[in-house]
Amino acid sequence: MNTMIMNMANTDKLHIGVLGLQGDYEAHQKQLKSLEIGSSLVKLPHQLDEIDGLILPGGESTTMDKLIDRFNLRDKLIAFGKIKPIWGTCAGMILLSKSIEENQSDVKPFGLIDIDVRRTAFGRQVFSFTEVLTAELNGQKASFEASFIRAPRITRVGKDVSVLAEFNGEPVLVEKGNILASSFHPELGEETVLLRYFINKFFIGLDR
Ligand code: GLN
Repeated sequence: MNTMIMNMANTDKLHIGVLGLQGDYEAHQKQLKSLEIGSSLVKLPHQLDEIDGLILPGGESTTMDKLIDRFNLRDKLIAFGKIKPIWGTCAGMILLSKSIEENQSDVKPFGLIDIDVRRTAFGRQVFSFTEVLTAELNGQKASFEASFIRAPRITRVGKDVSVLAEFNGEPVLVEKGNILASSFHPELGEETVLLRYFINKFFIGLDR
């Protein structure tokens, strides 16, 4: 049972963007809506000016990478991530990383968090699985469901990067500054513990 408290009054003006080029952006918006947090899809550079923080969904990083360039988003996304909170989930984490091992598809990572990743390293679609994980979130233990769907492995964690959760002894939820990254999809069930953590930590300050 999650014990984090969120003061909804403080979220009235908050507006979170979800990169809406490809992937599971609708489920993230649904979770934001369930917390009564305003959100919009980001597809064009100017839409980044209208949001306080951004979620990069899971999906297919190669497709997202191509669309990011087609929509002329890359420079502005990277500039946004240098000053504002971004949470990258699964393919979104691949985009945030510093380097992609065996990068056959030539996805160009943003380098916003000092981790290296290997795509689809938890196994192919048929080996997808959901696990209940426990994270240490601001000194409190919280459990949540994590779905690993063609999920990337984190193969190196920079020395300033905090590991918030592990699966089988491997980092799967990491954070540095205003950047949060998870190997897994957190948005597929009803549970919103990590989304509330993201909101509390970066926008409300209750848990800082
Ligand atoms: N393996 C996918 C990729 O490389 C990520 C899978 C996911 O986001 N569920 O983009």
